[in-house]
Amino acid sequence: MALTGIQIFKLLPKTNCKECGVPTCLAFAMNLASSKAELDSCPYVSDEAREQLAEAAAPPIRPVVIGKGVRKLTVGGETVLYRHEKTFFNPTAFAGLLPSDISVVDAEAKLKVWNAIQFERVGLNLRPELVALKDVNGDKAAFAALAKQVAETSEFNLVLMTEDAAVMAAAVEACGFKRPLLYAATEANADAMGKLAKDNDLPLAVKADSIDGVIALTEKLTAMGLKDLVIDSGARDLKPALADLVGMRRSALKDGNRSVGFPTIVFPCEMASNLEMEGLIAAMFIAKYGSIVVLSDLTTEVMFPLLLERLNIFTDPQRPMTVTEGIFEIGNPDENSPVLVTTNFALTYFIVSGEIEASRVPAWLLIKDSEGLSVLTAWAAGKFGGDDVGAFVKKSGIADKVKTRELIIPGYAAAIAGDVEEELSGWTVTVGPREAAHIAGFLKARQ
Ligand code: SF4
Repeated sequence: MALTGIQIFKLLPKTNCKECGVPTCLAFAMNLASSKAELDSCPYVSDEAREQLAEAAAPPIRPVVIGKGVRKLTVGGETVLYRHEKTFFNPTAFAGLLPSDISVVDAEAKLKVWNAIQFERVGLNLRPELVALKDVNGDKAAFAALAKQVAETSEFNLVLMTEDAAVMAAAVEACGFKRPLLYAATEANADAMGKLAKDNDLPLAVKADSIDGVIALTEKLTAMGLKDLVIDSGARDLKPALADLVGMRRSALKDGNRSVGFPTIVFPCEMASNLEMEGLIAAMFIAKYGSIVVLSDLTTEVMFPLLLERLNIFTDPQRPMTVTEGIFEIGNPDENSPVLVTTNFALTYFIVSGEIEASRVPAWLLIKDSEGLSVLTAWAAGKFGGDDVGAFVKKSGIADKVKTRELIIPGYAAAIAGDVEEELSGWTVTVGPREAAHIAGFLKARQ
């Protein structure tokens, strides 16, 4: 059980030095108890107290790492019920289901198609991360060979699905180096699966047919020394599955129930009769509270909206996505190329830079720090004023790179033109289009 605020307070130095950012140790203790503060914010906690406080400071849902290498991912680690309370930290991972009786050639073709499902958005690479390899006939040699094929020839990390410990052991020997998730320990095989996971230091999913069954399993495996667990409540109907996930998240966060404080795995592939319906169910579990979602297939038309939904749900609502302030070259600009300026809201940057690229007119794009606000909002909030923009252009060093002394500002910030010109003596300011979609035409027309 997590410690209460008063229990935590008793372990703090009680000097009220305020270095943690709040006025008293008691306030810090309360924040720690409600996961609103990090223990490291207090530099004066003794080692002994730190050890005792570790449990209270740990996220109520344990973070579990699956995979190795560049596609390694973390699931769980969540601290709130609702995204607006703070943020959701570790995005739902998507898995495509591969049966163990698939031929080598078909598996290769499938992996190639799945691997091509990748999209670039706001500088991020969006893609599914996992292959769920399902034992369908107990053939451990075939299961292990396919696990090896996926591990060695693709960037996907693995979920190994079998309840037969001997079949699982063969696959672990073949692909254990890639830190697969083992699915699943049940009441019948928990000892063998637990030992296999512990001996190989691998994450292990538990599957039961009720929450009580899940708790019995997680408590048993935790007692065996396993920490990295993932939960499948066993429900395959939509309503009870959702109720289980919400109930477990609530119990872990509000009651400090560590027995259900683990990431979850859900199977839309076993809840629907077609992929489109699986996609709809998956969309629900992204928000409530599926850590790993297994689909019967991965296709562009189903994955694209799911990846975008995931991006939105797992973006920190209190921190706009930004790009670094500075000068960006688009299409090898030279000293005669046009100079544009805009804000550092990531979406603004990627849309504007994309439109400049589409125009095929090489240009310099100046990105001014506006605390992640878009042009109109930044201007209204005083983060993109004429004086500021002028001063930024001066100190940016763009004058050393170009002969031109013309600055193109966004149409939505037309009101700052005079102030910019006043600040930037020797420069003329041209008001560009209000909409990014018109930038390409605007640049081409100037040539
Ligand atoms: Fe108390 Fe530590 Fe915060 Fe200082 S930094 S007020 S000692 S909790």
